[in-house]
Amino acid sequence: MKHWRIELDENGIALITFDMADSKVNTLGLETLDELRAIVGRVRSDDAIKGVIIASAKPDHFCAGGDVGDIRQFAGPAEPGREAETLAADLERMTRDMQIFRGLETSGKPVACAIEGAALGGGAELIMSCHYRVAADGKAVTIALPEGSLGIMPGGGGTQRLPRLVGIRDALPMLLQGVNKSAAEAREIGLVDEVVPEGDTIEHARRWIRETGDPVQPWDKKGFKTPGGGPYVQANSEALTVAAAISRKAHFGNLRAQESILSAVYEGTQVPFDVALGIEMRLFVQLVRTPQALAIMRTQFLSMREIKSGANRPDGFSKRTYRKAGVLGAGLMGAGIALVQAQAGIVTILIDRTQEAAEKGKAYAVKSLGKSVQRGRMTQDAADEILSRIVPTTDYALLEGAEIVVEAVFEDRDVKAEVTRLAEAHLGPDAIMASNTSTLPITGLASASVRPVNFIGLHFFSPVERMDLVEIIRGEATSDATLAAAFDYIAMIRKTPIVVQDSRGFYTSRTITRYLDEPCEMLVEGISPAIIENVGQMTGMPVGPLSLPDAIGLELGLHVLKQTRRDLGDAYQPSATDKVLEMMVDKHGRLGRRNGKGFYDYSADGKDKTLWPGLSELAQLTLTDAFDDKVKDDLKKRLLYRMSLEAAKCMEEGVISDPREADVGATLGFGFPKWTGGPISLIEQVGVAKFVEECDDLAERYGERFRPGEMLRSMAQNNTTFY
Ligand code: NAD
Repeated sequence: MKHWRIELDENGIALITFDMADSKVNTLGLETLDELRAIVGRVRSDDAIKGVIIASAKPDHFCAGGDVGDIRQFAGPAEPGREAETLAADLERMTRDMQIFRGLETSGKPVACAIEGAALGGGAELIMSCHYRVAADGKAVTIALPEGSLGIMPGGGGTQRLPRLVGIRDALPMLLQGVNKSAAEAREIGLVDEVVPEGDTIEHARRWIRETGDPVQPWDKKGFKTPGGGPYVQANSEALTVAAAISRKAHFGNLRAQESILSAVYEGTQVPFDVALGIEMRLFVQLVRTPQALAIMRTQFLSMREIKSGANRPDGFSKRTYRKAGVLGAGLMGAGIALVQAQAGIVTILIDRTQEAAEKGKAYAVKSLGKSVQRGRMTQDAADEILSRIVPTTDYALLEGAEIVVEAVFEDRDVKAEVTRLAEAHLGPDAIMASNTSTLPITGLASASVRPVNFIGLHFFSPVERMDLVEIIRGEATSDATLAAAFDYIAMIRKTPIVVQDSRGFYTSRTITRYLDEPCEMLVEGISPAIIENVGQMTGMPVGPLSLPDAIGLELGLHVLKQTRRDLGDAYQPSATDKVLEMMVDKHGRLGRRNGKGFYDYSADGKDKTLWPGLSELAQLTLTDAFDDKVKDDLKKRLLYRMSLEAAKCMEEGVISDPREADVGATLGFGFPKWTGGPISLIEQVGVAKFVEECDDLAERYGERFRPGEMLRSMAQNNTTFY
């Protein structure tokens, strides 16, 4: 066997160790499950085996769950027409796989598991199908079923075994919200049977088999009742109602998985166990075949992994590692970039105009790491070691030997040109010069460089240490070698790269801007600001469309808009945004959160806010009252479709060329709702033809900005998709 080991001791106890080959983690996919099926077959038929212990060879880790790539394969491709064809085959495979866990728990032999690390998703389902669970009393043990919060659902009996082990009330938060349990917490609710010191789990499992060794699950015993009773017991029916309400509040009904899980628990706990497994399987198969679950699985699991591991890095260039780097400008962004570099083991020369400003940038890292030490996530020694790598200075000569320099000075062409020249005077011929500009074209900035082929844009997001995305911007002269080197740098600082062409707003800023424009149109139409904010939240965006510009700063918004107007000249098309921002900033001096006045009025401490009543000046409010589902859907679509249309336009113009990057970039860069799979996946969820039709309808009713471009139209006609 490739992924599992079996060792039989003299008492007939088989220690089965999960150790997935060529992988740091154990996952349950086609191969590992095939082998497990063979093992279960042997456990059932081999009389020499008297009992079983399941353990993992991976440090701090039991099993990370189902392999999403394989699950997605079970679910079949999303194209319409293929569903019916593959359904039968899929069902058969799924049923067979479900029976592995069932086969284990009905083998007639006592099965215990030794949990020394994380048991997630399918891993948690595996431990629940054992008769006895021993967990180590360490930080590494977490038990969780995160599927529901991610948009899929457990399919290996999790929705049925969990309530039968811990009761419906305690099962719901784990299943719907993905709440984690430590070993002690799991013991408290009855999810594990024994908590012992680290390293002792196998011994205790062995003792249980020898001394007790009951080979029958509670639910297979006569007269079994779910702890706390079924769904009609008052406490449970209340728990189900509350769970539905919590889910509604968190997901606004966008995440179908939540309903499927609630149904599985509600229906499944009223029937015998094998029937219940059938109910779960039916709901699981239905769910994973929906365009929504397919999109979520693709973006959240597969594309995220592929893009992070550099799927679009040009071939043929040897991998670079970075030991020394420079950061120019120790402000908000520079300080964050210096911190992540130092954390990645890169010596960082942090330069600003004065020693004081450079030190201030380093102080940011001191504070941030200090918090980690305080919370017990890091030792002071480790923090000190990281900090020793940040060298604050005004002296460009210290850049000698740096392999990359990231410039994060003021957003001003001349200042950027000056620091580029100063830095390059000390750099070797292969060193990369990168700019973190958010708006200035890279090709223009590269003209200040003596080696424009080595010049590239690296657009980080704030706060750098928490935001996972970096947009790589290729200038006209940027070479493939430089691009590859940028990928290696981003991999080293553990961020996720997407490649975008050098154009106004690059990709993410351009797409999110539509989420800020459309509310201005709505305001001018007379839609109440409170409704606009609420609908924004209901789309699943992390911040409301009037709160976000307040946070960014309305003045900055107007500044960018005026700059664009100047740059585009006659080609500029004014929109409601011009009118709204001019009124806010120029007429009323409302600059956003920073001066306590924007679309909201903020309390002195900035903690409370209320919508500014003066917004009614913009238009006679026509939509102010409670609104029905149709109006709500219309408004939700307007917000989301504007961004999807813009993302599609970016694909059409070649600003971004891989739909995976478009979806991952929007999700990581500005929190595009996860239930959609990203702005491009949203179009595919709706169906390209239907999306085009709906946008045409919106264009008729609200304006030409909704009119789909040529590419979408021809895709709709030819029935093609982005992926
Ligand atoms: P900031 O004002 O906080 O920091 C800029 C720093 O550059 C200051 O410390 C300043 O003293 C220093 N500086 C200015 N001129 C200098 C010079 N000649 N030599 C050395 N240092 C000099 O600005 P920020 O928000 O960190 O933005 C920096 C860059 O990053 C800008 O180009 C901005 O557009 C871009 N950016 C910002 C964000 C964001 O969210 N703030 C996001 C992405 C990109």
